[in-house]
Amino acid sequence: MIMSSTEFFRNLPPKECAKCGDKIDEMHDCYSHKCTECESEIY
Ligand SMILES: [Zn+2]
Repeated sequence: MIMSSTEFFRNLPPKECAKCGDKIDEMHDCYSHKCTECESEIY
């Protein structure tokens, strides 16, 4: 049985921010392991 890409991504566990542990929006998680809030902090 072949899973569609939509099903595949739906089955992925939600990513969590590496810093504060908040759930990361899927739109945002492709390049970062931090949530928008931590990401916006200045290094
Ligand atoms: Zn965070």
